[in-house]
Amino acid sequence: MPEGPEIRRAADAVARVLVGHEIVDVSLHLPGLKRFEKRLRAATVTVVDTRGKAMLTRFDNGLTLYSHNQLYGRWYTTRRPRLPRTRRQQRVALHTATHSALLYSASDVEILTATQEARHPFLKRIGPDILDPSLDKAAIVERLLAAAFRNRALGGLYLDQSFLAGNGNYLRSEILWSAGLHPKQRPADVPAAGLVRLAADTLAIARRSYRTRGVTAPPKAARERKALGMRYEQYRFQVYGRSDAPCYSCGTPIERLDSGSRAVFICPECQPG
Ligand SMILES: [Zn+2]
Repeated sequence: MPEGPEIRRAADAVARVLVGHEIVDVSLHLPGLKRFEKRLRAATVTVVDTRGKAMLTRFDNGLTLYSHNQLYGRWYTTRRPRLPRTRRQQRVALHTATHSALLYSASDVEILTATQEARHPFLKRIGPDILDPSLDKAAIVERLLAAAFRNRALGGLYLDQSFLAGNGNYLRSEILWSAGLHPKQRPADVPAAGLVRLAADTLAIARRSYRTRGVTAPPKAARERKALGMRYEQYRFQVYGRSDAPCYSCGTPIERLDSGSRAVFICPECQPG
């Protein structure tokens, strides 16, 4: 499942071809959406927002295309009249005079008015976006200490979209390792300084992953590993997917724990719990 940084980058790509341009042709291949084709034709895309794993493509006529990629959905952008080479099923096609933005395989797609967006069950339930530039450390600490979250294990909290939207499995492992916290620990058990560090690492690692196309390791470490000939999948993470490999901080073998149905990777020495 793509996490916040991947969705934000997909939104950036869609924004690059659509924002400020008139939509000259539209195809919506989902039941109930056909009737909006006419209303989106000749509209202009004003912005492409993300809320966690949802993308919101906004038009100047007040309508918003809501899409959630779930596991399989994928956006492509092309120069017209090219289409992506894929066997996936096309769900949405938005064409400007020069480019196309096309969504394949996703089934969670809606057209919303502002009122419908405000009442949308998923959007209402999710927390602040982990990549929202206005989100700061203090707001995350406040959230960690809120009654709804303070007694929950960090392992569960760091996948829960109602805590922070856009968080996900690899970010969870990387953030908790960096903060030196075990997934079983609860915010209520962590001293104030530890929570501030966790909040700072949460922001720094999510933003770094967005900037670097998914590299959560610090830039210097990633450069050194790359220079040693490591491939992207090997150098990008500090702990995620590195079972039994030595911790980059202390050399202890990394352990994989099963937390729900998703694996979390920890260093038992650096994250004693
Ligand atoms: Zn360690």
